[in-house]
Amino acid sequence: MNIGICGISGRMGLSIFNILKEKNHNLTAAFDAKSSPNFGKLAGELINDSNYDLKISDINSTDLSNSFGVIDFSSPAATMKLIEESVKVGSALVIGTTGFSEEELLKIDEASKQIPILFSPNMSLGVNLLFKLTEIAAQALDKSYDVEIFEAHHKLKKDAPSGTAKRLIEAVRQMQGLRDAKEVHGREGLIGERSDNEIGVMTMRAGDIVGEHTVFFTAMGERIELTHRATNRDIFARGAVTAMEFLSDKKNGLYSTYDLLGF
Ligand code: NAD
Repeated sequence: MNIGICGISGRMGLSIFNILKEKNHNLTAAFDAKSSPNFGKLAGELINDSNYDLKISDINSTDLSNSFGVIDFSSPAATMKLIEESVKVGSALVIGTTGFSEEELLKIDEASKQIPILFSPNMSLGVNLLFKLTEIAAQALDKSYDVEIFEAHHKLKKDAPSGTAKRLIEAVRQMQGLRDAKEVHGREGLIGERSDNEIGVMTMRAGDIVGEHTVFFTAMGERIELTHRATNRDIFARGAVTAMEFLSDKKNGLYSTYDLLGF
């Protein structure tokens, strides 16, 4: 496929570039910020491969019209510009960028009436399957199961709990009676008995852990554990490339990673 990348010299952009190469896709647009030290270089210089002689440039309609679509991991402002230009030439978009305002989210929605867009703040297929399995478990079980969530990440991560853990908490709230349950972040001292109206959220930070999440459903006599362990950050880039392949035969519309998984 002819695929472009927006934010090509960023962490995600580079990883996507390597996966496009591995899967024999053509790189037909290489967009980056003018302030990037790589702006104006040949894309191949990023991965030491002279076969890629496309210049890293500003978002433009010529490269867009040569592409089936663009995979975007950049910034909300860049994504907005990319949307405008993509709609003009009718090319597809996979959006992995995060941090959009309500107004920007509406623009993504509007544009999807004119082009196919897959938008997901978490492109890992495995993590999305964990979300779905957690929803299924939460809908099937009742409050006799205590729910606790554990997450572990590398020591440089600045926020807690992780965005993925927050989404898991929302999935767990689908359990009858847990909609307004209190989140309990860690426990210490004489805490008394656990109530039925709480969701425990435990965080570990250590070394170079890429990301682990477990949802425990525990009743008297049994325990169900749903676990996802990421061992490589490439999972997001791989998911994004699979997302673009998925769009190849899709009509205009807004798709999510759940569509990709067939849910
Ligand atoms: P990064 O800072 O390493 O890379 C961002 C790239 O975008 C840079 O190369 C930058 O120069 C480029 N950029 C900025 N403004 C631009 C513009 N106007 N035009 C073109 N390019 C522009 O960041 P990253 O770690 O690669 O993450 C990028 C985005 O992807 C962030 O929003 C991040 O939260 C998100 N992300 C999403 C997922 C997911 O699964 N959906 C996974 C990881 C990161």
